[in-house]
Amino acid sequence: MIIAMKAGATDDQIDHICNRIREFGYTPHVIRGAERTVIAAVGHGDKKEHIESLKSAEGVEDAFPILQPFKLVSREIKPKTAIKIGDVTLGDGGFVVMAGPCSVETREQLMTTAEAVAAAGAKLLRGGAYKPRTSPYDFQGLEENGLKLLAEARERTGLKVITEVVNTADVELVAEYADVLQVGARNMQNFALLKKLGAVRKPVMLKRGLSATIKEFLLSAEYIVSHGNPDVMLCERGIRTFETATRNTLDLAAVPLLNELSHLPVVVDPSHGTGKRSLVRPLARAAVAVGADGLMTEVHPWPEQAWSDGPQSLRPEEFAEMMNEIEPYVGLRKRE
Ligand code: PEP
Ligand code: MN
Repeated sequence: MIIAMKAGATDDQIDHICNRIREFGYTPHVIRGAERTVIAAVGHGDKKEHIESLKSAEGVEDAFPILQPFKLVSREIKPKTAIKIGDVTLGDGGFVVMAGPCSVETREQLMTTAEAVAAAGAKLLRGGAYKPRTSPYDFQGLEENGLKLLAEARERTGLKVITEVVNTADVELVAEYADVLQVGARNMQNFALLKKLGAVRKPVMLKRGLSATIKEFLLSAEYIVSHGNPDVMLCERGIRTFETATRNTLDLAAVPLLNELSHLPVVVDPSHGTGKRSLVRPLARAAVAVGADGLMTEVHPWPEQAWSDGPQSLRPEEFAEMMNEIEPYVGLRKRE
């Protein structure tokens, strides 16, 4: 259930409500907004007598059940989450672009890419150091050496770093280097990993599973938030359908739908969403137009030589073009 406190509610009143919530067997999550505090009480069922009792407590404006199965990520709780990544903010009405190679390959490849995407206006550098590859014979990533190269690129360019953590055992190590930890599509329902990321004090970008419904996607985000980390961004990266002309089917309806259902920021990845370089720029424009808070695109200085995902990687000059092309759409965005 949600307990909306009155605008001037005191800390003592908030503490009292939290204690009552615990006595009733729920877990309280205090969400402090600019004007008022809301307390989400999460547990099994929202009992009518508990709601009535909390409604009449000092400092409480109203109490009502949360209707969605996902609770803490539901838009019923608050209108929008803004996530701070150093001096970059995602979800505050601005637009954030993350770009870089699929895999960190060499120092030259990463630095060339980082400098180019920074010059074109990207704010985060992406690059996989741990790669969840479909085939065990494909390149699996440079691991910690890849993380070190990402940190070096951050030093050089000022870009923040987003990189994937594949294994629960690597969470601490990746969190030492990354500004944002990425959960890949294949791990969207790796609940042990999601729980562990709940304890991390860095933002997490959760990618939608290959065949995950919106409800499953949001429930996975709920795992991370309910385990203590409120800074989760959602990434639509295409889902598997009968269509084989594209690598995945980019579900752009998911963007306004997620905005309707959840307060978490939404990022779109048109690179994995299409698998085709020629489709990345049109879909990037469309993603902005339907209300995304950010984009993630793969960029490689020499896509023909890329160790992974060359066919969907933009060349640096194409990325710069994309940045120019999306700008008018950023100004036109409207959130339903
Ligand atoms: C990636 O972004 O590097 C990646 C592997 O994407 P996904 O998990 O969406 O397939
Ligand atoms: Mn890739």
